[in-house]
Amino acid sequence: KKITIAIDGFSSCGKSTMAKDLAKEIGYIYVDTGAMYRSVTLYALRHNLFNADGSIREEELKTQMKNIDISFQLNKTTGRPDTFLNGENVEKDIRSMEVSSHVSPIAALPFVRTALVAQQQRMGAGKGIVMDGRDIGTVVFPDAELKIFVTASAEVRAQRRYDELKAKGMEANFNDILKNVEERDYIDSHRATSPLRKAPDAIELDNSNLTIAQQQQWLYEQYRK
Ligand code: C5P
Repeated sequence: KKITIAIDGFSSCGKSTMAKDLAKEIGYIYVDTGAMYRSVTLYALRHNLFNADGSIREEELKTQMKNIDISFQLNKTTGRPDTFLNGENVEKDIRSMEVSSHVSPIAALPFVRTALVAQQQRMGAGKGIVMDGRDIGTVVFPDAELKIFVTASAEVRAQRRYDELKAKGMEANFNDILKNVEERDYIDSHRATSPLRKAPDAIELDNSNLTIAQQQQWLYEQYRK
């Protein structure tokens, strides 16, 4: 029987690497829900839906939500899905610092969450899916058969994001990244709608001192149980 696997946790804790690799190994669909919130943010940035003070023009975004189409397509080179916004491959653009520093306020808007959660539930239902995010085990799939909650120290997470951006040839400054990781943690766990929480039945993993191979081994064992 194909199950639903929910992987939640703080920013840059390695959730997507875990989820992607497991999905590939067991032949499941992988969905990166952070990429969806990032895509809405990229859309808002491109359409000037942020005021100079950083606040969001909510009413405008609300009426434009119907014009935002987010989809995924397997990239044959990387073996992982790329994110498409209205038909354009935005996989690289959504990882920029600019998007990272605007995404958490966008993800706090209830109408954004309602729309994306509904899409996530449609993608997942009964198909054998690994989904990573902040509210998968608590809101999107509260009945998921396997729930993992990942943590790691902020410094370790910032270092990983730094290495990842550098590896992609993108701009990266460690202190800015650390600040961004801490800011997102704060906003994500204090927002009124679906704040980041460990689901009561989630298994917690602190991967600060684990290699990727050790982490994958641990995850695979949880799946096998
Ligand atoms: O996972 P990633 O770091 O790419 O997510 C970017 C942002 O999207 C998070 O900081 C959070 O604000 C938001 N997010 C969310 N709910 C999810 C996934 C991501 O609020 N399920």
